[in-house]
Amino acid sequence: MSEASQTEVHYSVDADQIATICFDLPGRSMNVLTKTSMLEFHAHIEQALKDDNVKGILITSGKKDFMGGVDLAMLGSLCDPFSRTPKEERAKEGYELILGFHKLLRAYETGGKPVACAITGTCMGGGFEIALACHYRVAAKKEKAQIGLPECKVGLMPGFGGTQRLPRLVGVMAASEALLQGKSYTPEKAKAAGFIHDAVDEKKLIEHAKKWLKNADPKKDALQSWDQKGYKIPGGGPYTSSGYQLFVGGNAMTLDKTKGLYLAQEHILSAVYEGLQVPFEDAMRIEVRHFTYLMTNPQSFNMIRTLFLSKQALEKGARRPSQEDVPVNKLKKIGVIGAGMMGSGIAFVAAKAGIKTYLIDKDQSAAERGKETIQSMVTKLVQKRRMSEKDAALMMARILPKTDYTVLKGSDLVIEAVFEDMKVKADILKNIEEAAGSKCIIASNTSTLPITELGEHITYKKNFIGIHFFSPVDKMPLVEIIKGKKTGDRAVARALDFVKKIRKTPIVVNDARFFYANRCIIPYIEEAHRMVTEGISPALIENAAEMLGLPLGPLQLNDEVSLDLSASIQKATAAALGDKYEPSPAADLITKMLQKKRHGKKSGAGFYDYDGREKSLWTGLEKLYPITEEQPSLEEVQTRLMTIQTIEAIRALEQKIITDIRDADVGAIFGWGYPPYTGGPMSYVDMVGSTLFLRQCEKLAKTYGKRFAPPKLLREMGRGGERFYVRFAPEL
Ligand code: NAD
Repeated sequence: MSEASQTEVHYSVDADQIATICFDLPGRSMNVLTKTSMLEFHAHIEQALKDDNVKGILITSGKKDFMGGVDLAMLGSLCDPFSRTPKEERAKEGYELILGFHKLLRAYETGGKPVACAITGTCMGGGFEIALACHYRVAAKKEKAQIGLPECKVGLMPGFGGTQRLPRLVGVMAASEALLQGKSYTPEKAKAAGFIHDAVDEKKLIEHAKKWLKNADPKKDALQSWDQKGYKIPGGGPYTSSGYQLFVGGNAMTLDKTKGLYLAQEHILSAVYEGLQVPFEDAMRIEVRHFTYLMTNPQSFNMIRTLFLSKQALEKGARRPSQEDVPVNKLKKIGVIGAGMMGSGIAFVAAKAGIKTYLIDKDQSAAERGKETIQSMVTKLVQKRRMSEKDAALMMARILPKTDYTVLKGSDLVIEAVFEDMKVKADILKNIEEAAGSKCIIASNTSTLPITELGEHITYKKNFIGIHFFSPVDKMPLVEIIKGKKTGDRAVARALDFVKKIRKTPIVVNDARFFYANRCIIPYIEEAHRMVTEGISPALIENAAEMLGLPLGPLQLNDEVSLDLSASIQKATAAALGDKYEPSPAADLITKMLQKKRHGKKSGAGFYDYDGREKSLWTGLEKLYPITEEQPSLEEVQTRLMTIQTIEAIRALEQKIITDIRDADVGAIFGWGYPPYTGGPMSYVDMVGSTLFLRQCEKLAKTYGKRFAPPKLLREMGRGGERFYVRFAPEL
């Protein structure tokens, strides 16, 4: 390849003396800040500032989007806590790299020449920070474009001035959601929030930015408000009465959300608080110090790897059979059998993604009811302005409620989501195959029935696969794809093409009882049941889980999925294990709860009382299982709750239900809410150390029983302090 084609940032000067610096990384659909693009950008900025022939600078992109941010893969080696390079050296390298770029942004911000940024589409992280240092920002009006600073979502913080410029621009309050929650904005909303100056028609974007540059007065316009005399932070700085209240309240609110578990939010708040009290040059250093601290902390490394790199790789098809072997299917027409809670959810996401969807149930009224459920979901979206009326009408027209299976002919995929009953499903699968033919991929959304056994009911067994959605389908981001013993590559590829089309995150696992996610959630909930029967306070159990960073306490989670499900799982487990089944002492608890007609949230009564919008732990539970006088420590309860799910994930890896470690970590976080700051169970054990984790399991097994007994794999690894991401390093 010639050198010219490797250029990542282009430079040109037009007849109006405007220098255009255009990011256009070859071979990538999205611009990112790589070492090369940072160096090239640096050189072009210096040239434009130096050249007397240049009167104004335009920064833009040659792609439909502006920029995704810093190349996180590049940061990876600097973040890696297991790197051979000592932490101090990595911190120093990171500090200098980031501060160098910071200084460059400051150079054009204070260089005396007007600088405008023409934001062609999505503009995130470092891209938005480049734009924030410009004197004028205009974006193309695009519905799908997003502008924001999402760093905190992967355990990082804005490092190129975002924590300093945004609060100086719009005030601490207005900047807080973008900084602390990583909220992003469409161009029009970014304009309303004061983040950008204007949002214009895509075709007029460059012309508009150039017009501003041509008319700009360098003395007035090439100066940020915070570099002007008499500047005051909008809404007040830390040492004003309003600012003081804001920081006190902001700290408390952040702590409430993060439970003190997420370092990024803490450091962002500190950087803003400290940085706003000093001149800009010092503020830059403050930000970079906080950034470097986070960057070299294992939490950020784990979060970047799982929440960004692995998630993105899985979404892009890391587990898909090669496209040469199985070409991508466009999924134009699908069928969903069963228009209940799950079936209507699946039809909703499919039709929303533009797929013609036949929704079939036993009788027409049941199928129509499914469509009505979808209509009410769509109506809510329209009311909230998340969908236009036109798109809603088009989407609803794609859903065709039917009872007759003949419409399935020519479908690319048919998913059954009928009652959880082997016999009912077996009949349905036969009917689907008969109508849809030998080429159609057929999937089951079962949550407990073995895929291999279900597949026995169809003729072309390689066409059959499990596609396990989580409830509610429209909100839950993960889809678990289950390969039965006879599932073929075409079926895996089709399932993955479908998941990609509906924009969810897939993991691919092998068939085993409860697959991966449910297999780990069930012991977690059961551990809480055991604790209740031991006389541990339910409030302690629930708070311990929430303080670990789990989205719901185990008892509340049980209420959400219903206690009937727990009972049927116990029944199914007993049937499947036969003589080997050892009833848990906690099974009694569910029986007693159901006898008291406490079925969970859906019945308004479970471990909690649901009174309107308020909920509170059911006091009657203490009468069934009196709380013992002496309670275990918070740490003890947390260790049990965390270990039980982690050890189950390791068993799933040992038993080859999980064959790619990325599936284990991504699946845990997005499937059942395993604490995201850990990066998932495998990252968690790597971080605490397999030897220490092994000891912990052995200790718990001695005290509480063999469910904590370390599996052979962990014993082997713990002996030598081996790491999962070394032994099971994913093929990249
Ligand atoms: P549901 O009871 O809400 O819906 C089942 C639907 O299937 C009903 O509309 C019913 O009329 C229809 N049906 C039953 N027999 C039929 C037949 N012979 N022909 C056509 N339609 C028929 O149940 P659900 O909660 O939507 O669960 C459906 C499937 O999804 C189950 O296999 C369940 O295990 C699985 N699943 C459920 C969840 C969950 O959280 N509820 C999560 C993941 C997977």
